Amino acid sequence: MMNAIPMVDLKGQYQKIKTEIDQAVLEVMATAQFINGPRVKEFSNNLEAYLGVNHVVPCANGTDALQIALMALGLKPGDEVICPAFTYVATAEVIALLGLTPVMADVDPDIFNITAALIKPLITNKTKAIVPVHLYGQSCDMEAIMDLATTYKLFVVEDNAQATGAKYTFSDGSIKNTGTMGHIGTTSFFPSKNLGCYGDGGALMTNDTALAQKIKMIANHGQETKYYHKVIGCNSRLDSIQAAILNTKLKYLDTYSAARNQMADAYDAAFRGIAGLTLPKRQVNSSHVFQQYTLKTEARLRDQLLNHLKAKGIPVMVYYPVPLYQQEAFSPYIDKGFKIPNVEGLCKCVFSLPIHTEIGNSQQELIIKAVREFFKNV
Ligand SMILES: *Cc1c(COP(=O)(O)O)cnc(C)c1O
Repeated sequence: MMNAIPMVDLKGQYQKIKTEIDQAVLEVMATAQFINGPRVKEFSNNLEAYLGVNHVVPCANGTDALQIALMALGLKPGDEVICPAFTYVATAEVIALLGLTPVMADVDPDIFNITAALIKPLITNKTKAIVPVHLYGQSCDMEAIMDLATTYKLFVVEDNAQATGAKYTFSDGSIKNTGTMGHIGTTSFFPSKNLGCYGDGGALMTNDTALAQKIKMIANHGQETKYYHKVIGCNSRLDSIQAAILNTKLKYLDTYSAARNQMADAYDAAFRGIAGLTLPKRQVNSSHVFQQYTLKTEARLRDQLLNHLKAKGIPVMVYYPVPLYQQEAFSPYIDKGFKIPNVEGLCKCVFSLPIHTEIGNSQQELIIKAVREFFKNV
């Protein structure tokens, strides 16, 4: 029998680099430098070089990275932070956790990201920061967002958990990695992310040396000198085993992104022209690293389509089924009846197909066949 099609093929990916990974992990075991060992420093240096950013500060996960970023900016309770209403909960959760006020913005319904035009009307005299999310692996239009932030003196924290390796081109032709354009960038190394470890992990990126110092201090109990605590911080570390794994996997990141793009191109070619199906739109000034291959269908068809695919053994996911402002947890921050039509629509229309680095073509053929079959009959 054929192996079941996975949403994310972490086993297949590991099998291909098993020797290298095993050796890296065993080396950490042998040296027993489990916390802040040399591999953590080495990984920070390697990721700085890869991203072209002055400072990478590793931490325990992508949610911590966002929290530490907002702590480092010195925001005060009641300050407003603008984020998209269509994202993973962590983005808005940390804002609320710190006593700040999340202000949820609409997103472009074709690109799935927030834009400067959608952010601008939400700016008040309490607004202090914007958290753009490079959703599904494609950059927000950062030039416009940074211009807006400069005009209104706002901080920008890029949530780059889904787009490590994506590149954005400015109008002067310069190219930067996502996560390195705002004041601070954050990312996650959750196993299924584009650069994933074998447990939890995260990092912050910045070009600002003073901010980097502050971030390091906050992530380490607010201390620079052991047992002398300057500020209230937290304990958020990337462990050495995860750093050793990430060091190995970073070498393959571009190959993995290319494989994801190859799969996305094949999906695009197979689905183009099907009525009732909208392909993911590529932004002209950003590359795409396809953390997700996300399509839109008509709301009335989606459940049927999901059931059809599941019955054929094809995994399919909805990122995200509920707008953040409808989540019970955010009710204290949201006016009754608050609604954003684009986000509302997206939550009913989007679905994501398997896309990753190791899928066999025969598996992709099966997925394509099942999707086409469904639309032939509606
Ligand atoms: C995964 C993710 C996070 C959180 O990362 P963790 O490492 O799971 O804490 C934050 N924001 C976005 C957009 C994500 O996709």
